[in-house]
Amino acid sequence: MGKSSKDKRDAYYRLAKEQGWRARSAFKLLQLDEEFDLFSNVSRVVDLCAAPGSWSQVLSRVLIKGEKFGRSAWQDRDAKVRQQMLGVFPEAFTPEQKAAIEKETSLSAAQTGAEVTTAAANPNVKIVSIDLQPISPLAGITTLRADITHPATVPLLLSALDPSYDSATAAGTQAQHPVDLVLSDGAPDVTGLHDLDIYVQSQLLFAALNLALCVLKPGGKFVAKIFRGRNVDILYAQLKIFFEKVIVAKPRSSRASSVEAFIVCLNFRPPAGFHASLEEPLGVGQRLDRLVKERDMQLPIVAEATMQSSRGTWDFSVKSAPTTSREGGITEMEVYDETEGNDKVNGSRWIAPFIACGDLSAFDSDASYQLPEDYVSLDPVQPPIAPPYKRALEMRAAISKTTR
Ligand code: SAM
Repeated sequence: MGKSSKDKRDAYYRLAKEQGWRARSAFKLLQLDEEFDLFSNVSRVVDLCAAPGSWSQVLSRVLIKGEKFGRSAWQDRDAKVRQQMLGVFPEAFTPEQKAAIEKETSLSAAQTGAEVTTAAANPNVKIVSIDLQPISPLAGITTLRADITHPATVPLLLSALDPSYDSATAAGTQAQHPVDLVLSDGAPDVTGLHDLDIYVQSQLLFAALNLALCVLKPGGKFVAKIFRGRNVDILYAQLKIFFEKVIVAKPRSSRASSVEAFIVCLNFRPPAGFHASLEEPLGVGQRLDRLVKERDMQLPIVAEATMQSSRGTWDFSVKSAPTTSREGGITEMEVYDETEGNDKVNGSRWIAPFIACGDLSAFDSDASYQLPEDYVSLDPVQPPIAPPYKRALEMRAAISKTTR
């Protein structure tokens, strides 16, 4: 398949090269921002599973350079329309409305007028991007090559976020200066074995969540890729314990034919006494149950929540191991459905709201588009630095050399 046929089949792939994005995924983040205004009041961000770096590019352009996309761009456009209306029909506005429009116009001119290109222009912005693969440098962004499922990544991330952090003396795993937003676009190499892929993806998601719990500030946001498998609603219920709003979103640039979606979690509000740790992470499983049985412990309830959906109301509680034990803090969260008399949330369902996002006039990621006759296909903006296939080719060459 030639380069241009891929351009024709995948409009976002073509557009990414034309607009200078390292990957078509940039549009997914932009469309999520359009719906959820993810970047407003945000200056400290962690971008997990970030290679080749198109989400980090979006962060850099919005937060460091002050460019406008998403909802803030729409707000600007609305303000311009109001300003024009005021010029044409001044008599249609009350004095208060006129004053508000004038104020809004001067504010947005000040915000958009000063477009800057270096990190120094906004010293409060801190962006740390992590991936297993190397990420080609981006101005103003700290990049780390690390495995997000490994506990050693927490101190690495904490010291990247706060240069005065000293892992030798620092106790605990909480960021001293927490972040406003954690993103994770993590995906394993897909095997094609559906259940296995969904399982590995869920493990990546839990790793991202556990890291997020260490670094997010109250009120913070967490956005992560999910594969919608059979038991994904258990995950939604678990996330609901930590965030006020949990929404499943499918951007228009994510193929409808793919199980991929994004979980958008807003307003982080950890239960009282909650202590995040990658040594004893949250995740699916029965560890807390086992712990209780082995030690004959009665775990105190540290947080309770009530969830409502069209299918009913459920009460959930989070139980915590005593902080004096080796397993101090919450080591595993179980969600109990007390209203129904069932043991676990598995018996019930909390369905997160689903939102399709992205402008309807945007390209359809499943469609093929006719390109102009004189269309010239561009090269990718940033080819991978060390792709796994490169190593595979080297190994194959080495084998054929020895068998010759
Ligand atoms: N958001 C990125 C962008 O916009 O360029 C694209 C991310 S790509 C879809 C998924 C990434 O997840 C890959 O680069 C892969 O290396 C990374 N990944 C998978 N497992 C990981 C792990 N355990 N730790 C860190 N990164 C991981």
